[in-house]
Amino acid sequence: MRLDRFLAETTELTRSLAKKALQRGEVCVDGETVRQAATQVDERSQVTWRGEPLALVGLRYVMLHKPAGVECSARRGLYPLARDLIELPRVERLQTVGRLDVDTSGLVLLTDDGQWSHRVTSPRKRCGKVYRVTLAEPLEGEALAAAVAHFADGVLLDGEAKPTRPADLIMRSPTEAELTLYEGKYHQVKRMFAALGNRVIALHRESIGPLLLGDLASGEWRELDAREVALF
Ligand code: URA
Repeated sequence: MRLDRFLAETTELTRSLAKKALQRGEVCVDGETVRQAATQVDERSQVTWRGEPLALVGLRYVMLHKPAGVECSARRGLYPLARDLIELPRVERLQTVGRLDVDTSGLVLLTDDGQWSHRVTSPRKRCGKVYRVTLAEPLEGEALAAAVAHFADGVLLDGEAKPTRPADLIMRSPTEAELTLYEGKYHQVKRMFAALGNRVIALHRESIGPLLLGDLASGEWRELDAREVALF
């Protein structure tokens, strides 16, 4: 890879700032000062910037048990960001795979592999996401049978041109639902229950496709292993 790209991937420098650092003579490759941005380097090259050794990090794949009150956003706003909970080098490169609302808890994936992220979120992959939903009003009897059929047929949400894809609804108690979605529209779970005249008071994502949160505690994270990454 070109040296300016290597610098942009291993430091906070952009490609154009990397070129300036090269021109200032701040970069050494295998002990020699190098000023040409087009110089080719690979993972065996000993590259330093201002004397600090630099190393390429591979693509990263992380699962996080997001607590409520943490935001799945790239931009800093009112709340801590999901990536603030993760201790990895160059963590600012990790993006969440889809989003959970700030008041939703549960499984969030983060990666710097855009193609993998696309595979996980593409509705064509039919990758089911299971949500545990606490409802304000009990849902049982005929109303429940109608809701199961409605969710299986698809719900036309306010402002949407097409109904939702078929979703599976199971009740664990009159106010505790398990809903499996195969897509991810904005506030989808809350809007689907609102369409029934109900209200979601707590929402938690338990799984994404074959990946389960398992016993990962709230606020904890771990890297996925190669087998888990290859599932998508
Ligand atoms: N649906 C919602 O309404 N909120 C989420 O965070 C995820 C799915």
